[in-house]
Amino acid sequence: MLIIGCHVGFNKESQLLGSLEEALSYGANTFMFYTGAPQNTNRSPIDRDLTDKAIALMKERDIDYSKVVVHAPYIVNLANGDEDKFKFSVRFLKEEINRCTELGVKWMVLHPGSHIGLGEEVGIANIVKGLNEILTNSSVTILLETMAGKGSEIGRNFEEIKKIIDGVSNKERIGVCLDTCHLNDAGYDVNKFDDLLAEFDRVVGLSYVKCIHINDSKNERSAHKDRHENIGFGTIGFDSLIKIIYNDKLKDIPKILETPYVGDKPPYREEIAMIRKREFDDQLKDKILSED
Ligand code: FE
Ligand code: FE
Ligand code: ZN
Repeated sequence: MLIIGCHVGFNKESQLLGSLEEALSYGANTFMFYTGAPQNTNRSPIDRDLTDKAIALMKERDIDYSKVVVHAPYIVNLANGDEDKFKFSVRFLKEEINRCTELGVKWMVLHPGSHIGLGEEVGIANIVKGLNEILTNSSVTILLETMAGKGSEIGRNFEEIKKIIDGVSNKERIGVCLDTCHLNDAGYDVNKFDDLLAEFDRVVGLSYVKCIHINDSKNERSAHKDRHENIGFGTIGFDSLIKIIYNDKLKDIPKILETPYVGDKPPYREEIAMIRKREFDDQLKDKILSED
């Protein structure tokens, strides 16, 4: 069975129940969310009652909660060795892990970090140090996201991901989240996805992959830009994305769409339906725009 969903909201009033209801409204059977605004540190306490209600509704609707993922906020940067900033990142990520634990979420996707001129080696060493502080006694697994290589982003190739994993002591709690747009923008040929997976398996190990972000890209391969496009409307294209989504080797892992809104409308209901049909609709964006 295809495990497919998208990025959904999480707000103070409805929390996990609201996130789940949003996902269900798109015909999704999994989802990803931030536990608060990704760009600030304001976090509301987790409401036990809303969490319980959401978990009960997931059981009722046959949703496997063990596939649901949280995305770590992007204000943290473990690669930055500046003492105050590094301490802040570690502390805030530990708090996020605690929130995941309270919610019962097992996975947290993390952008490894940007070395901001310190160089790849120092950046990776800082990330490893941070992860080792965060992952002691963690019940949550951190999934390092493969990045587009914008600016000084680390994680733009499999070798960098491998170096980080090598440095992490608690291998049980570290994994990888692939992102098709990022892979394309980083220079990988996602049109030859079996070869790409074989390379990932050789360098890192396929068993580390626990999630994949499915996005088309607005840019050509190797652009190092990171601009997501709606499914089938970008440089990767519908057929390649369908092959990735239905790839047997990724059968059990959640596929998460992070495609852009069309106008002010979420595209996910239509995109998920199109993916299930396996048939590209080049009018999809116009249809989304004309709905009320
Ligand atoms: Fe991300
Ligand atoms: Fe992503
Ligand atoms: Zn991205």
